[in-house]
Amino acid sequence: MSTVNIAIDGPAGAGKSTIAKMVSAKLGYIYVDTGALYRTIALYITENDIPDDKIEASLENADVSLKFIDGAQRVFLGGRDVSELIRTPEISMAASRTSAIPAVRKYLFGTQQKIAAENNVIMDGRDIGTVVLPNADVKIFLTASAEERANRRYKELAEKPDCPTYQEILDDIIKRDYQDMHRETAPLKQADDAVLVDSTELNLEQSADAIVKIISEKIGGGLC
Ligand code: C5P
Repeated sequence: MSTVNIAIDGPAGAGKSTIAKMVSAKLGYIYVDTGALYRTIALYITENDIPDDKIEASLENADVSLKFIDGAQRVFLGGRDVSELIRTPEISMAASRTSAIPAVRKYLFGTQQKIAAENNVIMDGRDIGTVVLPNADVKIFLTASAEERANRRYKELAEKPDCPTYQEILDDIIKRDYQDMHRETAPLKQADDAVLVDSTELNLEQSADAIVKIISEKIGGGLC
């Protein structure tokens, strides 16, 4: 039986993961956050201090895997659950750098395709609709202005100690967008057949509803 695959791509901070989680809960699909895989590789390289010219060779020892525990994705590095450790600004920036390395993308490609072949998934990332799942049943490109994305992230972090300033967050977002859009391999871009959803003026519920509507229009009777 073939599986239903939904690709959601877009820049950092557009709300992909929160919205994709809401949509997958509504549809009963597995939500796959592919950014976590790139973040885990970045953690592996950082923790082991691997120089650029040794990264490709080191990947065979990386041992990165995903597990779904009560429907929630956890990511493992050598058997250690690193799902929380990978969520720092340093790892965000390191992931953006290491994800430009073709060998890293190649290493994670099979893992992503296998999950999509075996499950009904909503998979979010940067190149899901263009490279990983070019035949996805539905493709969404979810974006929002850089200022609005920085604003949302700032509100999320404002209560935490050592919260970066709004300007630092905005600068990080702009830098990451640039790196992700201008790399040679699998740059962030909207697939020709993806539907654009701009969430600048939408809240989370409205964005999730817009996406559910697009999905039901595309796969109609396939939806529960
Ligand atoms: O989505 P998230 O912000 O967690 O992703 C971290 C980094 O991983 C991104 O900035 C991007 O460089 C990279 N990434 C990617 N391709 C994907 C998912 C993430 O290059 N499919």
